[in-house]
Amino acid sequence: MNFNSVIVRYGEIALKGKNRRTFEQKLLSDIDRFLRARHIDFSKISLRMGRIYIKGIETLPPLEKVFGIYSYSPALEIEKDYETLKKKVVEFFSLFEGAASFRVSCQRIDKNFPYNSMVVERSLGEIIFEETKTPVNLKEPAVNFQVEIGEDSIYIFTGKVKGFAGLPYGTAGKLVSLISAGIDSPVATFLMMKRGVEPILVHFKISESDARKVRKLKRILEDYSAGREIKLYEIPRDDIFKGNFATLYNNRKIHPYICVICKYLMHTKAAEIARTEKALGFITGDNLAQVASQTLKNLFAYRTVSGLPVYSPLISFEKEETIKIAKKIGTYEISITKSTGCIPPKNPKTGVKIENFQNILEETGLA
Ligand code: ATP
Ligand code: MG
Repeated sequence: MNFNSVIVRYGEIALKGKNRRTFEQKLLSDIDRFLRARHIDFSKISLRMGRIYIKGIETLPPLEKVFGIYSYSPALEIEKDYETLKKKVVEFFSLFEGAASFRVSCQRIDKNFPYNSMVVERSLGEIIFEETKTPVNLKEPAVNFQVEIGEDSIYIFTGKVKGFAGLPYGTAGKLVSLISAGIDSPVATFLMMKRGVEPILVHFKISESDARKVRKLKRILEDYSAGREIKLYEIPRDDIFKGNFATLYNNRKIHPYICVICKYLMHTKAAEIARTEKALGFITGDNLAQVASQTLKNLFAYRTVSGLPVYSPLISFEKEETIKIAKKIGTYEISITKSTGCIPPKNPKTGVKIENFQNILEETGLA
């Protein structure tokens, strides 16, 4: 369908009381920034009666990538005049010819428009039927011809694209996100971004191939940050081990604890970065019992060290659920490419006792 504008809908959930205006203004400026970052031309974005209208636009942007948007429709904006509307329908006949059925749905946002929704639906329906003989089906039409009577104009459209909803980028504040080259942590980061979090990515670098993957994952996540750059810290893993990783890994007594020690050190370092960045906690892709280091006892040993809250939206997910999201957002293909990451111990400690763990840390000189 020909379009010259886009109608953007956002939900009501976050719009209680005083937050409403801030939320709307942020969403408006995020859309503006998103379009400019993609070099998509438009003439105007405006907010009217609980909708955002992008006018003078010829390329359809993937607005589902802007958090806070529930749905959007490419639409044809026409003069707000009933006779013009009736004449305009002729240009759409080809949409109905050959279609199994249709209906006309009208929403009258401007209640002062002299014709109510039913009158508009019925008369346009008659014009279309007369010409095309396409049957009407109110329940499950093949073509839903929608007319929205706005404040300044009339909009015609035939479909809605669903967005991810959520809250505009960054409105919740900052969190440090521990990101690996795996499948889980990019998805966890995405899910928290969807709730308005600005992530500060922290990657503990094990190999150049892993780090390259993380940089690619960052670029995918930036598709969802409304045209803003996401910060990434790359820290060599050996830094947090004070240069002793290989020695400890090869120490028979320490070896089974290496993953838990590693996570403990990651969390300690991430807390330092969180303080510098004024972030209010971390994001991890932890998932209960998925790998050896993720038993409740092990999680207890390292998740409490920082004193900061740790948000792990995947903690109860089945792997399939995570993979589904990873595929949808575009991180999966990158995450599954081969790289040389860490080699977990053959006999990992699955139930680290906290007293023993403290002793182990003292012995290693890493406490
Ligand atoms: P992922 O798929 O995110 O790698 P995983 O299921 O493989 O997770 P682990 O490797 O035990 O599980 O990692 C648990 C979490 O610890 C990760 O989701 C991530 O948040 C963090 N993490 C693991 N490795 C790194 C790393 N090299 N740098 C930063 N964070 C890491
Ligand atoms: Mg991993």
